[in-house]
Amino acid sequence: MHYDVVIIGAGVAGLYTAINLPKDKKVLIVNKAHPWECNTFYAQGGVTTAKDDDDVELHIKDTLDAGAGLCDTQAVQVLSENSQAVIKDLIARGFSFDADSEGNLLYTQEAAHSQKRILHAGGDATGRYLHHFLLEKNPHPMMENAVVTDLLMEGSKICGITVLHENRLKNVMADAVVIASGGVGALFEFHTNASSISGELQGICSEKGIALEHMEMLQFHPTVYVDNTTAQKQLLTEALRGEGAQVVDELGYRFLFDYDSRGEMAPRDIVSRAIFDYAKKTGKQVYLSFKTFEYSYFKQRFPNIENKFATLGYNLPHDRVPISPAFHYAIGGIKTDLSGRVPSVENLYAVGEVASTGVHGANRLASNSLLEGLVFALRAAQLILTSGNSSCTKAFVAEDVTWRLPEDKAKKDRLRIIMWENVSIVRTKEGLEEALQEINGMLSQKLGRMLYLRLLTAKEIVTSALQREKSVGVHYREN
Ligand SMILES: Cc1cc2nc3c(=O)[nH]c(=O)nc-3n(C[C@H](O)[C@H](O)[C@H](O)COP(=O)(O)OP(=O)(O)OC[C@H]3O[C@@H](n4cnc5c(N)ncnc54)[C@H](O)[C@@H]3O)c2cc1C
Repeated sequence: MHYDVVIIGAGVAGLYTAINLPKDKKVLIVNKAHPWECNTFYAQGGVTTAKDDDDVELHIKDTLDAGAGLCDTQAVQVLSENSQAVIKDLIARGFSFDADSEGNLLYTQEAAHSQKRILHAGGDATGRYLHHFLLEKNPHPMMENAVVTDLLMEGSKICGITVLHENRLKNVMADAVVIASGGVGALFEFHTNASSISGELQGICSEKGIALEHMEMLQFHPTVYVDNTTAQKQLLTEALRGEGAQVVDELGYRFLFDYDSRGEMAPRDIVSRAIFDYAKKTGKQVYLSFKTFEYSYFKQRFPNIENKFATLGYNLPHDRVPISPAFHYAIGGIKTDLSGRVPSVENLYAVGEVASTGVHGANRLASNSLLEGLVFALRAAQLILTSGNSSCTKAFVAEDVTWRLPEDKAKKDRLRIIMWENVSIVRTKEGLEEALQEINGMLSQKLGRMLYLRLLTAKEIVTSALQREKSVGVHYREN
């Protein structure tokens, strides 16, 4: 099998790359699970855009402020300056964002944005609507239930991938490979991510010496319902707080103002730490209260949340919901340039959550990630179309058999607990060293390939967290 382009992942970044590659190119999308099992599908709040040319500067400022000094300013400029164009492109292709009866787009606000500039679709189902739309527009074939287990390289050139499909390892050769495999949710005991998101491609890069950056920068969402039994927890979007939902304790006290004068509108790392600290100090349960909402407005604006929580026994907006922070978003990842290119490997690209473009720095501004996926996917597609073919000559054999080793569920679960307890919202030197020791211990044993890759990714996160001794943005070190 030889393709012009192989794209790993069918979320917003993979699909928007695909629809910007013409039909006459031989493109294959390889996707680990069912197409909808991705973080894009679960996105609720919306997509940020500079509202007009005048807002670009302010959007850049808000993004840089959230990033706490670690953003790549040029990347942020690229993000914001291209935001209106990608939104216009989606609309021109037929996508409908929520609008009023006269067709004016409706914008909402989320924490740390200085104005309303977030577009949404289906009320609180932006990701689902966008994903469905991109799947419909995609003109290229998709290989489903196909897990990428390796990148095939000859020196510093990418030649293709190895994929586990229908119980067989297969090599798929390509002139260009785009990694769009998302974040690292499954490494944590509590997370909001799709079950297919386990950070394996970051592990493959670690193994191959491909640079990863800012791996310690992990965002924890403050308002997550964690009382269900699966590892994937139910998110309560930031837009709820943006529109008036309140974080309260058992007695209705809005303790967030004791931590930050912006209360519910403080950036999510501050809100997450405040909830974590308050619950630990007082032993009280924390809730999200919706008492400021009219029933009819809530039902029309947040229909999916209302439905989902009805199935869990909550009558929203009347009931309050117990919440806790949970892992949500990987800021760091595979280091790329401003066109999604991986600098050290010819014809290899990374886009979306798996990439580190530098736009988020030490903290991501809410709803900038779908936008990042769109903007940098388009740039990668454009560059691919003007780049040369691969000149690999090496013959590859799909020979690794370690994937056949039985799934070690106990080790996977242990890793999740280590990462949650020692590498989450509040980190200490001792906790991180303990985590590293245990991960190294597991890595020295005989392991299946997929667990091995997860562990390599976890090790990159822990090592980066140890190296960054001072707190900044989402990375909070107690010592
Ligand atoms: C609950 C939730 C709500 C969110 N809300 C918002 C929001 O309102 N606004 C916003 O901007 N962002 C939001 N985010 C973040 C945003 O959704 C993600 O950052 C973004 O969708 C990531 O897109 P992606 O294409 O990079 O990855 P994903 O959409 O996660 O797709 C990754 C793809 O890679 C595939 N894959 C993974 N590993 C392999 C492998 N080994 N082999 C083959 N395929 C593989 C997966 O199956 C999947 O198809 C939210 C995230 C979550 C979890």
